[in-house]
Amino acid sequence: MPARRRTLIAGNWKMNGLRQAKAELRAVAAGMGGVGAELMLCPPFTLIAAFAADVAGTSLMIGGQDCHAAESGAHTGDVAAEMLKDAGAVAVILGHSERRADHREGDAVVKAKVKAAWRAGLLPVVCVGETLDERDAGEAAAVVTRQLRQSVPDGATADTLVVAYEPIWAIGTGRTPTTDDVAQIHGAIRHLLAERFGAEAEGIRILYGGSVKPDNAAALLATADVDGALVGGASLKAADFLAIARAAP
Ligand code: PEP
Repeated sequence: MPARRRTLIAGNWKMNGLRQAKAELRAVAAGMGGVGAELMLCPPFTLIAAFAADVAGTSLMIGGQDCHAAESGAHTGDVAAEMLKDAGAVAVILGHSERRADHREGDAVVKAKVKAAWRAGLLPVVCVGETLDERDAGEAAAVVTRQLRQSVPDGATADTLVVAYEPIWAIGTGRTPTTDDVAQIHGAIRHLLAERFGAEAEGIRILYGGSVKPDNAAALLATADVDGALVGGASLKAADFLAIARAAP
């Protein structure tokens, strides 16, 4: 991996965590000494400000899990990228398959949200991934590259984009693709990024997500073109999250 692509291990807490979960946050911050990878936790909106304040002065980053495309306005229940930034987030997950499924977010919506993240100075982590039917039909690479082409606006750079490849059938199921399959999709993503963004593509990090655990992290993180992990369930426990981070090459 080129020196520029520092491994990123990001935890997606989804709709989990009350204020008492700060204990896990603190355990991650206390245990990250000697970890070479960048670490980020994305708690629910309600915890972002408190978590960001708690880790101020450490290198542990806090991110959001979604944002609205608009800066403000009549969008009951939504949160603007500027609000995440104001609360202390530095990044935001966008286009997660659960958002795409639960809220019918298509690529055009995700693209608008990426622009909002850029407007607010947040790093977007753009998720793409195929269903099991699409994989079985041999369409995984085509689906993922189409999503990426349509979800990421022009002008992305190594500093303004992280991609997360998350096969939907691997999320929360305990199943993972083979490392050969992961390498193939990540290679296709890198190829597309190079077509669109030229030399910047070499610096854009591509995370793998989907049932990453302490016992499979080393193999996945050592796979070609895998620059880190987006971790769901295993990020809720500091010990597991740190074990994954320590497995990074
Ligand atoms: C996710 O939802 O981003 C994810 C990767 O979940 P899990 O690690 O639990 O499969």
